[in-house]
Amino acid sequence: MLTGKVALVTGAGRGIGRTIARTLAKNGATVIVNYNGSKESAEAVVAEIVQDGGSAEAMQCNVADFASSETFAKAVLEKYKKVDILVNNAGVTRDNLIMRMSEADYDAVLDTNLKGAFNMIRHLARGMVKQRSGKIINITSVSGVLGNAGQSNYAASKAGLIGLTKSVARELAGRGINVNAVAPGFIDTDMTRSMTEDAKKALNSMIPMGKMGSTEDIADLVLFLAGDHSDYITGQVICVDGGMAM
Ligand code: NAP
Repeated sequence: MLTGKVALVTGAGRGIGRTIARTLAKNGATVIVNYNGSKESAEAVVAEIVQDGGSAEAMQCNVADFASSETFAKAVLEKYKKVDILVNNAGVTRDNLIMRMSEADYDAVLDTNLKGAFNMIRHLARGMVKQRSGKIINITSVSGVLGNAGQSNYAASKAGLIGLTKSVARELAGRGINVNAVAPGFIDTDMTRSMTEDAKKALNSMIPMGKMGSTEDIADLVLFLAGDHSDYITGQVICVDGGMAM
């Protein structure tokens, strides 16, 4: 159980982040539901959590912005005094073939997916070091492990997140802080729902288990990594992908 723990989940207004927030709250954590643009959905997630008997608050921040992330982290620490569990889940895609990819699309993906995680860790790790405990969980992707045609910006950001995870894990291991990455395969969310039926069929044929995963499949692993049962695990990248990466 996570009773007494404060968890911050970035991009928790929908998709995987929403299920992670609900799962952590169901298990006793007080959850900060971060959003960037989706205020109403984030508030709906908070309402769902409260209805389930949990505790949560929606807070806006564009994690890609260093200064805004600092202001946000300060506001969270002022109100909740600590963050025990940080889940860097916020992410975007701007897919295109390398020959056609714009600089803006490359930068937007790297800024949110990689720098966003850096920003949050940079502003929250000090508190974890002081309390000599903490769980940092970065949501990367199977694309960052295997590469994916048409996603060079996204795969680079997610592979970078793996390097960030392992390096920060080494830096903070002696301070009682675990830093791990979860690499989802193809999960049924807005991010994948926009694909054509043909693309989905082609994709399913690449998954040994032959089907997409659910947001619960990811949230269950995050719950394990956020709790005491994972205390001796750090610097790992765990794929939840129906066997795509082996
Ligand atoms: P999604 O449904 O598209 O949701 C993305 C979330 O990220 C939204 O809540 C969005 O918040 C938030 N976000 C985007 N930019 C942000 C910013 N600058 N600051 C704060 N929040 C921001 O995506 P998802 O499928 O749930 O994906 C969640 C994570 O899993 C991402 O990191 C994604 O790369 C990773 N992942 C997903 C899959 C998949 O198959 N779905 C596979 C592998 C990895 P707003 O709506 O408020 O902007």
